[in-house]
Amino acid sequence: MTRIAIVGVAGRMGRTLVNAIEQQAEATLAGGIVEPGSSLAGADIGELAGVGKRGIVAVDALQSIVDDFDVLIDFTAPQVTLGNLAFCAEHGKRIVIGTTGMSDDELAELDSFRDKVAMVFAPNMSVGVNLTLKLLQTAAKALGDEGYDIEVIEAHHRHKVDAPSGTAIKMGEVIAESLGRSLKEHGVFERVGQCGPRTDKEIGFATVRAGDIVGEHTVMFATEGERIEITHKASSRMTFAKGAVRAARWVAGKENGRYDMQDVLGLE
Ligand code: NAD
Repeated sequence: MTRIAIVGVAGRMGRTLVNAIEQQAEATLAGGIVEPGSSLAGADIGELAGVGKRGIVAVDALQSIVDDFDVLIDFTAPQVTLGNLAFCAEHGKRIVIGTTGMSDDELAELDSFRDKVAMVFAPNMSVGVNLTLKLLQTAAKALGDEGYDIEVIEAHHRHKVDAPSGTAIKMGEVIAESLGRSLKEHGVFERVGQCGPRTDKEIGFATVRAGDIVGEHTVMFATEGERIEITHKASSRMTFAKGAVRAARWVAGKENGRYDMQDVLGLE
């Protein structure tokens, strides 16, 4: 039985994670952390998530539940996550990280922990998206150097704070890597005004933010005469939450290292 604590338990993903753990017989809800000073500290986390009283109250400091959990699941914000990663390394805990929007420096800091803690870090925990990454590798290898233009289009709800999505960037990285290109060099994240015609090797990104869209990604491979589109649509956050709980159970038995969902799902 894996004992799981959730950071950001009052957030959109945090509440969904409580529901996902409730549905998983091999995992148990061991604690929930809210922002320091939050008025929700002391609230029952089952009630917060709408599953009914569970007798576990939200705390605003990880230290106070350090003996209660084996794996931390963190879907919050970059600096919060990096602090929790250091805490887990120091206290021999494992961690599953879903937080997106990290800068290059923050990613380097995260990576510096790879020998000190067992972590699963993935911008998208859904099984479908991780399979889609595999399909993109195949498509990119077959089409990318044959005159097909590659564009990544993503849509999310109006509250999302980073763009393009971590998933869209990951898709771009997988495609670039399959083609021996660098996303830093060939990624085009903005087109406005007289920006000139498209170049052959660029990988373009477009972002939509509207309403309550949970997460949609389409990669377009377009040439004269045809267009292939590979699309994934998430209709509920439960897909990410179930993936994260699966990752938590998987990483509970792993040595220190940085893993992703491809490892968890055996898709490598
Ligand atoms: P949200 O704003 O609804 O939730 C974040 C929560 O973290 C908030 O409740 C906030 O109070 C809390 N928080 C902030 N600082 C904290 C601290 N120091 N200690 C404890 N809690 C703290 O956001 P969300 O929609 O749940 O998304 C959170 C993150 O997860 C984003 O980066 C988002 O892009 C990412 N995300 C990843 C996946 C994936 O599959 N990897 C899926 C969905 C969302």
